[in-house]
Amino acid sequence: MAKCPTCQGTGCVEPAEDVLDSLYQIYMACPLCKPEPGWDKQASLVSLPGGKDINAGTLRCGSCGRRPLDAVMGHGLSIMQEHGDREEDAGLARAGTPLIARGFPIMYPPRLGPGSIILIADDIGQAAAEDIVDRVPEVKGVVLRTGDQAQSVGILDSTSKPHEYTLLAGCDMRCDVVQTAFGELAIYKNQSKIHIEFDNRHKMDILGKLDHQGLLAGRVVVDGMCGPGTLGLMAMLAGARMVVFNDAWRPAIENVLLNLEVNKGLLDVEPEVITPAEELSMVGDEPVLVARALRGGQVMAEVYFGDLRKLSGIVEKWDVCLIDAFPAMEPSEFVNIWAGKHPGGSVIVI
Ligand SMILES: [Zn+2]
Ligand SMILES: [Zn+2]
Repeated sequence: MAKCPTCQGTGCVEPAEDVLDSLYQIYMACPLCKPEPGWDKQASLVSLPGGKDINAGTLRCGSCGRRPLDAVMGHGLSIMQEHGDREEDAGLARAGTPLIARGFPIMYPPRLGPGSIILIADDIGQAAAEDIVDRVPEVKGVVLRTGDQAQSVGILDSTSKPHEYTLLAGCDMRCDVVQTAFGELAIYKNQSKIHIEFDNRHKMDILGKLDHQGLLAGRVVVDGMCGPGTLGLMAMLAGARMVVFNDAWRPAIENVLLNLEVNKGLLDVEPEVITPAEELSMVGDEPVLVARALRGGQVMAEVYFGDLRKLSGIVEKWDVCLIDAFPAMEPSEFVNIWAGKHPGGSVIVI
């Protein structure tokens, strides 16, 4: 399998089929795992049983070798405290936000193996971040969060300044398993550069409705602000005749290319790069065709990097244009441009 574009590691990025196969019981306690510690997230770490001299062995199961999330976060917090990045009496709530490396809905607290979370934290220094990745085996990467927590990572449109978090140590590549009536896909994201989405069921519901209305199967679908490509890839799985992906943020396009590659078996396509991503600027303007995906000799997907407004002059035949804007963005200008070009097309704001 391809190397991870971020850490160059093998095994960091796997084909979607392998990711889906791994999910069964991946986060479930083994028969010999001790019960969930249920640590109070506000109580100071040092006051918790085993919290004072927490280390890589704390609460680790002797049988499966995994640990509860509380132990992993507590271990990370204690290293931040060593480096003076957290108060002596800080509780687990101050450690940051853990994102599981293979995200899918689970109804129980996860048991974590090596490299299974990305830690998103405010006010953490380089030294503490590197130390956490070195000493806490379950942590795959540490990302520094900057700005307002509600501010989306990425760009609002091609004229705005990008908002990014900073990958301080390790790797920030993780994936979400997206489940719909059409099937499942694994969507990889560089989490320091791509909007963090905790729940995409609402989007999947919209796709389900579009399918009911006959707007996916056999149609040409534009995923106008595609991010890592979730909606467009699902439209491909739902039988779209062709999907046009577009984004003006280079990291999003890099993730789309990776996601076409890892899901190519499930989608039955062969991706083909036309313009290497290294040649692109960080924020796009005039649309550039970056890649396409073929089935037989037929083009099933095209990937553009550029301003969605300008793409409307290039993509002539389309049936549905999906516009998945950030909450802080006013999409009406984009809607009007696309609706005006092709009165028969459906422009859907997600
Ligand atoms: Zn990686
Ligand atoms: Zn166990």
